[in-house]
Amino acid sequence: MSVDRQDAAVRQCRVCDSNELEPVVDLGLQPWCNNFLRKEEVGKEPFYPLRVVYCHNCSTSQLDFTVKKEVMFGDHTYLSGVTKSLSDHFAAVAEELDRKFFAGRSQKSVLDIGSNDGTQLKHFQRLGYEVLGVESSKTTADIANQAGVPTLNAYFNLETMRDIGRQFDAFNAAGVFFHLEELHSVCEAIKLGLKQDGVFVVQFLYMKSILENLAFDQIYHEHLLYYTLKTIEILLNRHGLAMFDARLAPIHGGSIIGYVGHTGAREPSAQLRQMRAEEEESGCNSITAYREFADRVKEMKDENVRYLEAARKAGKRVFGMGAPVKGNTMLNYFGVGPDLIPCLLEKNTLRRGLYSPGMHIPILIEDEVDETPDIYYVLAWNFKKEILARNQALVEQGVEFYFPVDPKVSA
Ligand SMILES: [Zn+2]
Repeated sequence: MSVDRQDAAVRQCRVCDSNELEPVVDLGLQPWCNNFLRKEEVGKEPFYPLRVVYCHNCSTSQLDFTVKKEVMFGDHTYLSGVTKSLSDHFAAVAEELDRKFFAGRSQKSVLDIGSNDGTQLKHFQRLGYEVLGVESSKTTADIANQAGVPTLNAYFNLETMRDIGRQFDAFNAAGVFFHLEELHSVCEAIKLGLKQDGVFVVQFLYMKSILENLAFDQIYHEHLLYYTLKTIEILLNRHGLAMFDARLAPIHGGSIIGYVGHTGAREPSAQLRQMRAEEEESGCNSITAYREFADRVKEMKDENVRYLEAARKAGKRVFGMGAPVKGNTMLNYFGVGPDLIPCLLEKNTLRRGLYSPGMHIPILIEDEVDETPDIYYVLAWNFKKEILARNQALVEQGVEFYFPVDPKVSA
C-alpha cells in the first residue's frame, strides 16, 4: 500500500490562521475517494490520512491534510446532470435568485464556480443570463462547452478572475466552497468580480446537519472544510463579504443556500437571524458536539459490520445502491469489501466496469443488472425519498433497503 503523507499535517486553521487545532475525527488512511479504478489500477492507488481537526479559535472543522488539487480535480467523473432531484434543485436555485434580485433586468450575468457539466448554468441561460462557467476538469469543461455553456477550463482564484477581467451580477458556488485549497484567493476573487449590488449564492453541506445525521461519509479529501453559518460568516467577513439571507435545502442530507453580498450592502434577513440563533442553541459549534459525533461514528461502524456479516451468514445477497464518492469514506472506514457487498449499482455510466478505491468493489450499471438482491445497502442515502419512491414495487415484495445514514431531510 502506498501512503502519501507528504510533509504531514496542516498546523494552521485554514480560515483564521490560529494554531489551536484539536483532532476530533480520525477516519484512518483512505484513498482519494473519487479515484474509481480501472482493473489494472486496483491495489496501486495511494492512501492519505483522513482526519478532521477543530479550531478552538473560530470553530471551523477542517481536514489537516490536503491531497494536491491537481490529483483531485484533474479529471473527475462526477457529472451533476445525472440525478433528477439535483437538476430540479439547480433549477429552483436559479429561479429563486432571479425572482428575488434580478427579475426586471434585461441584462444580467452569472459566473458559476466549479460549474461541472453546465447543468446549473443551463437554468440561468433559460432565464436570460449571460453565463460563464469555470471548471477545473478538462473533460467536464469540454462537455459543457459542447452543450453550449461557455466554460473556462481553469481553477477559480484571484488570478483567474483578473484574467476574466469583468464583473458579474451574480456568482454561484454549489458544493465547491468547501474543497477550495486556495480559500482566501477565491474569496478575494469573488470580492473583485461581484458588482456592488451583486449577489453570491453559496451552497454548502451544513455541518449542523452532518452532525445530526451522523453523516460522517461527507468527510472526504475534497471537502477540506465543514461549515456552519458561524464559521462561513467568519471567512466571508474577513474578505469584505457578508451573508444576508439563507435557507436549509434537503440536498445532500442538509445543505445551506446562502446569499452573500458586499459587506454593508444589505441587512441580514429575519430568517438568517433565526437560523443563527438555532445554530447557537444546538451547540454544533462546540468541541463537545464533535467529540460526541466521533464516538457515535465508531458505534456506527460496529453496527454496520455486524449487520452485513449477519446478512452474509443468513445467505442473503447484498448489493450496494449507488457508488457515490462519499460511499468510499464509509466502505473504507468500515472495512467493507466485496465479500460483504459483491457489487455497487450506479447510474453514472462513466463508472461502468470500474472498482471502488480502497475496497475494490466492482461497479455495475443499474439498468444493466437484472438480478434483485435481498438487500440494497444504500450508499446514496441522501436520495432516500427518490429511491424509495422509484422502488416501491420492490419494497412491497419484501426487498430490504438499508440506509446506513438516515437523513432527517432527503431529496
Ligand atoms: Zn480557525
